[in-house]
Amino acid sequence: MPATVLSTLYGYSPHFYIAVVFICFLVTCGLVLGWFGVDVPVILRNSDDSASNTFLSRKRMVQVKNPFGLEIVNPDTANITTGITLRPHCLEESTLTCYWGCSVQKVQEVLQRHAYRFLIMTPGALEETLNNQYQHREQHAVQKESKEEILVRLPEDSEIEDFGAVPRTRYPLIALLTLSHADDRELYPIVSMLSVLHVPDRSYSLPCRILNQYLLTAQGQFYDLKQLYMSTSEPTPECAEESRDCARDMELLQRLGLTEEEEEEEEGEGAQDGRGKDCVVCQNDTVNWVLLPCRHVCLCDGCLTRFQHCPICRQFVQETFPLRSGTPPTG
Ligand SMILES: [Zn+2]
Ligand SMILES: [Zn+2]
Repeated sequence: MPATVLSTLYGYSPHFYIAVVFICFLVTCGLVLGWFGVDVPVILRNSDDSASNTFLSRKRMVQVKNPFGLEIVNPDTANITTGITLRPHCLEESTLTCYWGCSVQKVQEVLQRHAYRFLIMTPGALEETLNNQYQHREQHAVQKESKEEILVRLPEDSEIEDFGAVPRTRYPLIALLTLSHADDRELYPIVSMLSVLHVPDRSYSLPCRILNQYLLTAQGQFYDLKQLYMSTSEPTPECAEESRDCARDMELLQRLGLTEEEEEEEEGEGAQDGRGKDCVVCQNDTVNWVLLPCRHVCLCDGCLTRFQHCPICRQFVQETFPLRSGTPPTG
């Protein structure tokens, strides 16, 4: 029927038929370019290039001063027989308490008790909670701002050769840093730092490393300190060293809240100076945005809004937060 009408009309004027074809062309263009509000463009365009990417939810960020830092010196040479060298770096006089072969369950209990306001701010509080569920304990005083290396090792007569088969019920080593003076505890929101370390032994020889670092706050919260993966344009070693020191003073906290009981913290490693850290996309501006959950720091303020997926690992970006506070995403 429409064909008959069209052919009749064509009989009157071929120009009319040409006009119909032209209108059909315009309607198709309109759909593709989104003139009628229909969502066809989503299929046709690359979603990453969408300029109106305003969905990214921003995490609330809190900056706190963390008085504690702990590093492993020469992790490649550390093992259960020769011991492990730790380098604490604390802003105040502190105490380093180490427990070898500590029960995994007890460490979880320690964090739970802290959350229930039985604050773990002294070695005694930890000792009480662990309730002898460890194999060896040692304690060292840490001077203010010193980077003294401390050798932590089992006594030669301990006869401990490993901490059992995997999956384990004991952590090889846990290290608690607490402030030595009660007055200092008023100064910092973070009252202690609990580090869980892997030390290779006969049955599990993976290299020595820090498994978890929990920052315990005076309010009974604990944050799992996580590393950020930052794109860098090869800063000089001195520059990198300086950045690391700087990062120790400034911890960038972000709260997971909601369903997660354990709140997570991000450490801005070398985030403060921003030297030599270019955006991987425009290669021009300084990186500023932490993408979650992958923790890549590779985008500048301008490029952030163009991506739904991390340009490095392609993981979908669920949330973001800036390294420098007070910088809203542009675009
Ligand atoms: Zn950029
Ligand atoms: Zn990523």
